[in-house]
Amino acid sequence: MSNLDTRPDETLCHPVLVRGPVNRLLEAREVPLGGLRAMHVQRTLPTRDLPLVGAWCFLDTFGPEHVDMRVLPHPHIGLQTVTWPLAGEIHHRDSLGSDVVVRPGELNLMTAGHGVSHSEISLGAGRLLHGVQLWIALPAGEADQPARFSQHRDLPVVTGDGLAATVLVGEVGGSSSPARVGTPLVGADIAIDAGTVTTLPLNHRFEHAVLALEGAVTVGGTELSPGPLLYLGAGRDHLQVASADGGRLLLIGGEPFADDLIMWWNFVGRSHDEIVQARRDWEEDGRARYGLVPGHGDERIPAPALPNLRLTPRRRRDDAGGATAEPGPRG
Ligand code: MN
Repeated sequence: MSNLDTRPDETLCHPVLVRGPVNRLLEAREVPLGGLRAMHVQRTLPTRDLPLVGAWCFLDTFGPEHVDMRVLPHPHIGLQTVTWPLAGEIHHRDSLGSDVVVRPGELNLMTAGHGVSHSEISLGAGRLLHGVQLWIALPAGEADQPARFSQHRDLPVVTGDGLAATVLVGEVGGSSSPARVGTPLVGADIAIDAGTVTTLPLNHRFEHAVLALEGAVTVGGTELSPGPLLYLGAGRDHLQVASADGGRLLLIGGEPFADDLIMWWNFVGRSHDEIVQARRDWEEDGRARYGLVPGHGDERIPAPALPNLRLTPRRRRDDAGGATAEPGPRG
């Protein structure tokens, strides 16, 4: 997935130090992905109020709708993309030579590191598509490493008490995902039987958030249906989950991220200059840094213009204020 905002803002991502459990409902923004039939996604990360949950820094939900996904070659740096379809099939090709179809039950994990490019095209015309794509910010020691790609078809499923949790990333109930990430994280797709009232154990050192994928679920006392992200803060060792008619939740969490980040377009970096360089490298000679995605000829997504704003990462002392932007010279 690509951020196809034509005028994306630079987003300053501070680790937010939330001291105790909260129930904060964050509405999704609808973002057009472009193309002939203008597929839309619901974006719940990053937002001004919540740029990160652990190292999770981006969350798009697509569908459910009969639509075509056609995301042409585009670059990434400094992050991992996690693609988890619930319906439909997506053809992934990248500059590492990966050429795979990802289907429901399968997870694609692409680690961009220093630079990679990829395309994502749904199979069939106007078929039902539904799923999520998330990005994970890489820690400083891994953000500039060579790119890699893996597909995981046998993720562990932990069942009990009306729940069936597929472990996408990290560990749930003693079962660990084979997907390799750089910081302590959890990601799980949790199917909930009708009539379930139970508690889900959580790592109290993590901050967490949940998104309803299907149905209506009561989470920690808050009614949740597909759309908004429910941010839960840190310091919980369990979560109450209930559903009268059954449903499905995406749980994400992790240790609050150590570094301040700057996100712009499809890049995660640590300075404005790093972002400017990444953009220049895509526009001037994309192949040298980002390689070539086979099968698309000259088709690619051009980088948008940089905003007239220079952002400097700054340490935030607590969770009271908003992100700070400093007007400055154009990069
Ligand atoms: Mn992408």
